[in-house]
Amino acid sequence: MKQVKLEYKKEYCSTCNAIHSKLDGGDIIDCMIYYRNHLEPKEIKEARESKVEVWNGKEWIKANNRHL
Ligand SMILES: [Zn+2]
Repeated sequence: MKQVKLEYKKEYCSTCNAIHSKLDGGDIIDCMIYYRNHLEPKEIKEARESKVEVWNGKEWIKANNRHL
């Protein structure tokens, strides 16, 4: 995957007690981005990103519909 290099100044955020870049002047969105990139549990991230279809042996199903 091509990585876009973006240089943003990282600074302490009093909203979430972390040091992250503030793209838009310390918007809560920046905290969400930081959370998703650094703190979000792997399972949750995978569930959110699993829009791809998987082969269950018979048919292609949505990856997050394994109970089917
Ligand atoms: Zn923050």
